[in-house]
Parts: sequence; C-alpha cells; structure tokens
Amino acid sequence: MKLSGKLAIVTGGSRGIGRGIALDLSASGADVIITYNENSQMAEDVINEIKSKGQKGYAYRLNVRDGNGIKAFAEEVKKTFRNIDILVNNAGINKPNDFDQIPIEHWHEIMETNLTSVFMMSQQFLPMIVEGGSVINIASVSGQYGGPRTTHYCVSKAGIIALTQNAAIFFAKKGIRVNAVSPGLIETEMSAAANQLGIDDKILLKRRGSVQEVAKVVSFLASDDASYITAQVINVNGGLYF
Ligand code: NAP
Repeated sequence: MKLSGKLAIVTGGSRGIGRGIALDLSASGADVIITYNENSQMAEDVINEIKSKGQKGYAYRLNVRDGNGIKAFAEEVKKTFRNIDILVNNAGINKPNDFDQIPIEHWHEIMETNLTSVFMMSQQFLPMIVEGGSVINIASVSGQYGGPRTTHYCVSKAGIIALTQNAAIFFAKKGIRVNAVSPGLIETEMSAAANQLGIDDKILLKRRGSVQEVAKVVSFLASDDASYITAQVINVNGGLYF
C-alpha cells in the first residue's frame, strides 16, 4: 500500500471530512493520530474502525485554538513516536452571518480555529516531519471566490492558501511538501448551513461532493505519487469554481 509505514496526524478527525481523511489514509497503509475537540465517542469510533482494518490509530483531545495545548500535543507525539510523515490540518468551523451582523468574538474565534491553529501546528510539528514528508491544509472554495454570509470564514480560508504557499517555501529546505486541498460543497454537518443559498445551482456536476472524494486527493498528495507537487491548491469542487 502506498502509505505503508507512514504516520499521519489529522486534526478534527472525529467526523466529517477529517474522519474520511483519517479512514482513507489508514486504508492506504498509514497509522493515524486523530485529534478532536469535544466528540470523544465519535473519535473513539474512528479509531476502532482504523484498528479493525489492521492499522494503528490514536485519538487525542486538542482544542486547536489553544497554543499551549498544541505544544503539549507536539511534545507527547515526539516522546511517543519521534517523527511523523504526514500532517493534515483539517479542523475548522463556520458561523454564517451577514457581514454587518458578525460579532467580533466570532471573527476572532474563526481566525483562531481555522487559520492561527494551522500556523501553530505547522510551527510545532516542522521539526518532527521527516524529509519527504507532506503537509496538507484544508482550505475552501470560500477562500477563493467569496461565499455568501461568511466573511470571517472566507478570510480565514484565503489565509490558509497564503500560509500554504509561504510554508511550502520554508519547508522545502527540509524536503517537505506543503499543499492545500480546497473543497467545494461537501456533504457534512457544516455544509448544511449552505442550504438555500443558491450555491448548489452553480456546481457544474450538479451535486455536492462526498468526504471520500476529498480524502482520496489528500491521500494522493501525502503519497510519493505526488512527489513533485508543492505549494499548490488542489480544487475538489465539482466545477463550482475554476
Ligand atoms: P465538521 O463536520 O463540522 O467537522 C469539524 C471537525 O473539526 C470535527 O472533527 C471537530 O471536532 C473539529 N473541530 C472543530 N473545532 C475544533 C477546535 N476548536 N479544536 C479542535 N478540533 C475542532 O466539518 P467538515 O465539514 O468536516 O469540515 C472539515 C474542514 O473542511 C474544515 O476546515 C472546513 O472549513 C473545511 N471545508 C468543509 C466544506 C464542506 O462543505 N463541508 C467545504 C470546504 C471546506 P469535534 O467533533 O470534537 O467537535
């Protein structure tokens, strides 16, 4: 299998896209550490599914807004495993509201959860990622064309794209590739907020995507098949944006 012997971390792996990514990485041969914020049972279920298919899986509770928590997590991973091969920064939230109604607290919460966390995770884990390793950040079509009712979310995801390009420049010195995957509307709890906003009509393929369709691209980017791809944004959006 193309990821045999590799160790991956997936933030927000308890449900939705992160769950799909964790399961697909493990199906490709990787052992996987998932983090979650609150849903310990769902995280445990993902780990059990990974183990039932023969890979190793670990769940770690981590609020990605908490810089000290990220440091403690990095120390724990270093102590237990020494190195990792794949880091997937997936955890994210959205709090849709009209531009003039967004409370400043929500602005900060979205920035910290979706963007600052990716900077902190990347900074803490850089020394632990092996040469030939790969970082994949989950962006969004909202960061590319401006989704309705989500100014703070759009800005955080546009920031992920800039952060990905910048980290790719720095991480290349260590032989680590950094890319972003930018999903369109994917069937998860989060995308329910986009119902009745008219976005679905603009999707060329006339349907929402599945978490597996995103996960497959992440596993590809994590593998040696993508050995000459870095600093890129790979769109998985059914033609919603091009
Ligand atoms: P989801 O189903 O709501 O899952 C969110 C995940 O993030 C959960 O595992 C959750 O953990 C975790 N999380 C939330 N806040 C956290 C925090 N403060 N600290 C640590 N973990 C936290 O969302 P999703 O649809 O799978 O989205 C996953 C990623 O894809 C996000 O970055 C999102 O912006 C992006 N995306 C989604 C879509 C879409 O259409 N769904 C489109 C484009 C991009 P708990 O279960 O413990 O709460």
